Amino acid sequence: MGILEVKNVNKRFGGLQALGDVNLSVAENSCHAIIGPNGAGKSTLLNCLVGKLIPDTGSVMFDGQSVLGRKPYEINQMGISRVFQTPEIFGDLTVMENMMIACFAQRDGAFKMHAIGSMWKEKDIVEKAEHMLESMNLAEKRDMHTASMSRGDKRRMEIAMCLSQEPRLLLLDEPTAGMARADTNNTIDLLKKIKEERDITIAIIEHDMHVVFSLAERITVLAQGTPLVEDTPEKIKGHPKVREAYLGE
Ligand code: ADP
Ligand code: MG
Repeated sequence: MGILEVKNVNKRFGGLQALGDVNLSVAENSCHAIIGPNGAGKSTLLNCLVGKLIPDTGSVMFDGQSVLGRKPYEINQMGISRVFQTPEIFGDLTVMENMMIACFAQRDGAFKMHAIGSMWKEKDIVEKAEHMLESMNLAEKRDMHTASMSRGDKRRMEIAMCLSQEPRLLLLDEPTAGMARADTNNTIDLLKKIKEERDITIAIIEHDMHVVFSLAERITVLAQGTPLVEDTPEKIKGHPKVREAYLGE
């Protein structure tokens, strides 16, 4: 039994079958990649895991409990944290302020914007935010407004904000999309470090095969909403069906 068990999940958008009989088992403390061409249903699947979408049929179990029918914040409290394909951070606040807001949300279950002025008085929050920034190599950027950060730094910032929630399952939707090679490599190293230092399971959607092969222990290939094959990176590399699915990409 994996920490995450997806069984026979189907999801339609009108006449389009976005997910068809998806089965997926993610082992605890592993890194599992989900790859596939554009429109394969990767983001839809992720949305079904975090309560943003409800599958038409099937089950999604996290650590033996169903996530279906729960609100996104309840699923978050169960230990699932998700980094979005487009960053969700406050551009007019600094890196440190954004991180403190995330730490607040983790401690109190929510953050009220009017608390921004007084949050510096909360020593535990300040210390935790500083620690999170250090661990993601963002300490030097703490006073920068997030709007002027590089794309790579913004992504890492988001990952750090997710990690401040102390999730057991971290979901990443194309974390290196649009990044320069150096930034991508930096992100790979940080994710490797996170895996080493924490008891955490990572499910990652990623287009960049260099990232996938650097991090994943298992890979599921999704094509037209259905898993085509699931295997180790070594086996996936030479798989004819995988090559076929990627032709025309
Ligand atoms: P991927 O992330 O693999 O690129 P998506 O999960 O975003 O693919 O999309 C899978 C398919 O479902 C695509 O054909 C997409 O256009 C469609 N789709 C995704 N979300 C919606 C939606 N909210 N309404 C209608 N169609 C959608
Ligand atoms: Mg997507």
